[in-house]
Amino acid sequence: MKLKTLADLFHHELKDIYSAETQLVKALPKMAKAATHEELKVGFEEHLEQTKGHVDRLKQIGESLGLTLTGHKCKAMEGLVEEGADLIDEDADDHVRDAGLIGAAQRVEHYEIAAYGTARALALILGHEDAASLLEETLAEEKETDEKLTELAESAINPDANAVESE
Ligand code: FE
Ligand code: FE
Repeated sequence: MKLKTLADLFHHELKDIYSAETQLVKALPKMAKAATHEELKVGFEEHLEQTKGHVDRLKQIGESLGLTLTGHKCKAMEGLVEEGADLIDEDADDHVRDAGLIGAAQRVEHYEIAAYGTARALALILGHEDAASLLEETLAEEKETDEKLTELAESAINPDANAVESE
């Protein structure tokens, strides 16, 4: 893909996020399954539904601008998902694993926040107001998810993990 113009870069960014979100749709059920704390499990399940909505918004943007979003793999998300999968495979205490899962999930959210922030800024300068609004909606949901994870870590998950005795 040639990046001659900012419009080309915008298209590239959209393809990258589309790949990232579709990888997450596959990874989140595994994270939900690996989570012990009910609120964390439910949180992952809820974010899975939200993430499917993020994919739909991207498809909507692609269709309205006549841009294909398939055919690219986001290597960063591939790595983040792989680290999460490695953590799930560790021989860990359930509560300690939960604390680690939050860390893995927040890395993902921060990556998405950066990606959506960039894409939204490009949409705005390119005059794609509708696309910018849709990207902004998703950006807000990613930020909200990140904040919820912080709250859950501080209120329940980290204290529970800290109460685990070493043998
Ligand atoms: Fe997302
Ligand atoms: Fe997300």
